[in-house]
Amino acid sequence: MAISVERTGEGGIVRPTSISDGVHQRIYEKLMSLEISPGARIPIDGLARELNVSQTPVRDALNRLEQEGLVRKAHLVGYSAAPQLTHKEFEDLYNFRLMIEPESARQACRKLTSESLTRLELAAGDMEKDEQPAYRNSRYSRFARADAHFHDEILKIAANEIVRQALADQHVHLHIFRLMFHSRVTREALEEHERLIAAFRAGDADAAYNAMHDHISRSRDRLEAAFE
Ligand SMILES: [Zn+2]
Repeated sequence: MAISVERTGEGGIVRPTSISDGVHQRIYEKLMSLEISPGARIPIDGLARELNVSQTPVRDALNRLEQEGLVRKAHLVGYSAAPQLTHKEFEDLYNFRLMIEPESARQACRKLTSESLTRLELAAGDMEKDEQPAYRNSRYSRFARADAHFHDEILKIAANEIVRQALADQHVHLHIFRLMFHSRVTREALEEHERLIAAFRAGDADAAYNAMHDHISRSRDRLEAAFE
């Protein structure tokens, strides 16, 4: 089977990925960086030629991206990039997060074990892995996934699967990170995650609530600029 390789940050470890995963990642990056504009049609044959692959992995990737809400499929029209969030949808999503995530952080702090703390620290560490500036697009889109993973880890520890699924279904991180491209977004978010982890380490459930509330409010303020 044909494989491509991907270099991970540390020590140049090489891990094989399938063609299909590689194609998915490339299209995902194009959508996140707005190289494919919101609402634009995505012709399968054109994309296959551009990526130098057959149409099958492109079709597979578009199906996966459709499940993540980044791509839409319409009868006779085919695939197109999902439209950008409206301001109202953006506000609604953040209000939803503010209802759910600070309280989940509090619960997670109460249920925390040394194993789950380690998992959380690893998830936070994943976001800081440096990549070369040439891959800015790729770094930003990976950051969106890593952030989603970090927040999901907290919901996992809080152990309410209904709440966790309700948030996962919104694919919040993919949609909000697609709004704009800003280094402040990543740097400040990392500092806020650190404060959150500090509260977890201290076993201070109220501090965890406040740190999460603060992180989400600030994230909203940073991204609000996309609508100005
Ligand atoms: Zn975050």
